[in-house]
Amino acid sequence: MLFGAHLYSKEPKINVWRNTIKPTSAYKNNIEWSVKVAVLISFLVIVAGIWSTYTTSKTTQSKIDKSLRIEQLSQQLNNHYQGLSNALTLAVNSGDKHLKNIYQSNQMILLEKLKILKDNSQLFNSQWIIKPHGIDLDALIASLKSTATTEALIFTHLETQQANKAFTIYRDFEFQQKKLRQQQVFNELQASLKQQSSDIINSLEHRLIKTTALLSLQIVGLIALWLYLRRIIQRWRDQQKIRSTELLHLAQHDALTGIGNRALFELRMGEALKQSRRNASAIGLMLIDIDHFKTVNDQYGHAIGDLLLIKMASELKSLSRESDTVTRLGGDEFAIILTNLENQYNASTISKKVLSLFNKPMRFDNHEIKISVSIGIATFPDDAKDYDELLRKADMALYEVKRKGRNNFQFFDAAIDSAAKQKIDMQDDLINALKSEQFSLFYQPIIDIDTRQVVSVETLLRWHHPEKGDIPVSEFILSAEESRLILPLGEWVLKQACLQQVQWQQQGLSAINISVNLSALQLHQETFIESIEKIISSSGIQPGKLTIEIIESTLMEQRDMLPVKLHTLRSLGVNISIDDFGTGYSSLVLLKRLPINHLKIDREFTKQLPTNYRDAAITRSIIKMAHELGISVIAEGIEQKDQLKFLVDANCDLAQGYYLAKPMPSIEFSLWLSHYQQQNKNNIHSIR
Ligand code: C2E
Ligand code: MG
Ligand code: MG
Repeated sequence: MLFGAHLYSKEPKINVWRNTIKPTSAYKNNIEWSVKVAVLISFLVIVAGIWSTYTTSKTTQSKIDKSLRIEQLSQQLNNHYQGLSNALTLAVNSGDKHLKNIYQSNQMILLEKLKILKDNSQLFNSQWIIKPHGIDLDALIASLKSTATTEALIFTHLETQQANKAFTIYRDFEFQQKKLRQQQVFNELQASLKQQSSDIINSLEHRLIKTTALLSLQIVGLIALWLYLRRIIQRWRDQQKIRSTELLHLAQHDALTGIGNRALFELRMGEALKQSRRNASAIGLMLIDIDHFKTVNDQYGHAIGDLLLIKMASELKSLSRESDTVTRLGGDEFAIILTNLENQYNASTISKKVLSLFNKPMRFDNHEIKISVSIGIATFPDDAKDYDELLRKADMALYEVKRKGRNNFQFFDAAIDSAAKQKIDMQDDLINALKSEQFSLFYQPIIDIDTRQVVSVETLLRWHHPEKGDIPVSEFILSAEESRLILPLGEWVLKQACLQQVQWQQQGLSAINISVNLSALQLHQETFIESIEKIISSSGIQPGKLTIEIIESTLMEQRDMLPVKLHTLRSLGVNISIDDFGTGYSSLVLLKRLPINHLKIDREFTKQLPTNYRDAAITRSIIKMAHELGISVIAEGIEQKDQLKFLVDANCDLAQGYYLAKPMPSIEFSLWLSHYQQQNKNNIHSIR
């Protein structure tokens, strides 16, 4: 794994939103429609209101005009009649004939006004025509005309100086009766017109009251409508708020364990750093990784793996304080943000508690599972000045725990930093080395103990650094795997080895098999089989002349696909060797299931042969078991003659080691081989 890569790796996001959050668009559409309808209704109501106000104002104006006109007319009629009568009376009493002019002008206007009134009452056939109720205008005019004749006579007498005659006519009872009657009619007429005028004003009042009531109703209706709408929108907003809270929760929480996810982690880290800077308090970041979680998944299935993750999350949550944030960053990686950290002691106390959780095996569905965890811790502001650095340093500390054998916790310190820097330098050097062809291959013979023939050679990688000189494989292979450079490098080795075998074959060297070490990463590749097939066909090697060596521990790592891949390889004709056998804790069941040709007993068991009786027993047992399964055995690291002798006695098939030959470059190997074949034919026989 690249340093820190697991922390930054992006996991596919689970689309839980779609399943749990109901769509709101239909509801939103309803609201939009309601608002549209409400706006339309409001618009119509407002237009109706304006229209009714406008027509009312118009009517008001015309009615007031009419009322005034009637009022005025009634006043004028009375005034002119009074003027006429007064002029007549004054003329009779004073004998002033000139008053005739005043009399005549009043009479003329009076008749004119009466005519207007009459015309008006006949013209309009509407509710508001001027209609003097109960008064016969024609009769009144006729009466006026009839008195006018008498009055004309009175004025004639006055003009001819016959005041007595005029007075007598004026005082005539019948004439006075008529005049009284006329005065009465004019009074009634004035009262009737006044009544009509006030009726108009009254009706106007009613109309105004009605219009005001209607307008008030409209306003109340509009307010009610909009209040109702406001309630609907408010309710919708509340629902949206609830929904967005739910969405936010889903976005920030891990669907499996229910604790915070990477998004919440980043958010809380940001907040914690801000708070720490403000309060000058410290933060601790604990990164927790379940050791060999993949093996649990492979061995017991993903359902059990999930239960373990859920258990882990709940345990971490119960161990941490309320103010701390526990999150799952992805896979088996958890993080706890410890705020207001007083000293490292707090973090180590929690770490010890976490580690002690796994002292005993855990039980899931009848399975007892023993796991452990690794914890890396970095603190702010002591170890880092920002988020990225803190995360990186906690990750470095975690890496260090893993490197030292896991099941522990580790605070970040300067030594880790320099080790990390060295690692980065190493990875840079490796990239360079691959580009500038600093790698070469050495070959170490593997000899058949029985026939003494060199049956195979193991390809061993060598790196000559232009400044640092030869760098042992053990110092760079881990780095190459972590940076995944082992993939192009391993492919190069495989290609070179196959070409070399073909070349030896063409040179007439005995039919030597070539053995190539493969990294677990190469096997994990999906295109592994295709790339082997390609190399076989491009190099022209016979597949049966190629053996791949797989380290025993790899068998445990990839249980699902590995058997399929190995069977495919075998069907191609390629041989399979299990390297470093005895050190990888593999299950013996695997040996039964996998198509294995050779077991290579690790040097760990052969180096103290024959004196160490335990190693001797183990070696003998391995050989016996392998033979029972039809697998041949290669003993590695044979440095002494008596080691070889022991293996001969134990019926071991093949041997490899400095005693027989050291790894060497190809040219040296060719020379060695011809020398070996000619001169040392009896080496092994002499052992027997
Ligand atoms: P391995 O595959 O078990 O290879 C045998 C190692 O033992 C080699 O070390 C070899 O030089 C050493 N050896 C052989 N005979 C003796 C002996 O008599 N005494 C002692 N003390 N050592 C002996 P080397 O070359 O340093 O390689 C170490 C490991 O590196 C290999 O162990 C193999 O796992 C890995 N390796 C080497 N080349 C490659 C490669 O091309 N690809 C991969 N993936 N791994 C490689
Ligand atoms: Mg090997
Ligand atoms: Mg080995």
